[in-house]
Amino acid sequence: MNLTPYIRDIADFPKPGIGFKDLTPLLGDARAFADSIEQLIAPFRESKVDCICGIEARGFIFGAAAATGLGCGFVPMRKPGKLPAATISVDYALEYGSDRLEMHVDAIRPGARVLLIDDVLATGGTLSAAAALLDRAGAEIVGAGLLIELLALQGRSRWQRNAPLHAVIAI
Ligand code: AMP
Repeated sequence: MNLTPYIRDIADFPKPGIGFKDLTPLLGDARAFADSIEQLIAPFRESKVDCICGIEARGFIFGAAAATGLGCGFVPMRKPGKLPAATISVDYALEYGSDRLEMHVDAIRPGARVLLIDDVLATGGTLSAAAALLDRAGAEIVGAGLLIELLALQGRSRWQRNAPLHAVIAI
């Protein structure tokens, strides 16, 4: 089904100049949500995915649902200080300042086939950082799945990997 009507544009959120893609209308509709997960995982059904890694916070929602769809486990990548056990981390640059992603050090076994999931691909910085963290863990990245790719920001150009980057909706 066409999911575009379930994406709401919020101007100037969280700060002036940002056009925020609000996915809560999609999440709130049973058919649209289920269909979005189906479209998200379809290219990876034969990829022998061992686990899905979802990026905080909306990557948790789509990643966890995708994991049950593919019949694999789910690993959260979180903002600093949220995970209770020992972590590995990666720092990455934002437009202003920097941020960090953390993952439990024992969450991924070396060689595990991992699919990365997030909601929106904008500049691609978050996804690149998440992939770098998976490299550090010794994972084999089988691909990345996103609900929305913002074409104008050319985030795809930062995904220089021999693994597919799949976006359900390109805007
Ligand atoms: P980037 O690192 O620039 O690709 O930004 C991607 C991350 O920021 C994702 O985790 C998104 O949740 C969030 N994000 C960036 N831009 C938007 C947007 N226009 N609408 C909603 N979320 C966004």
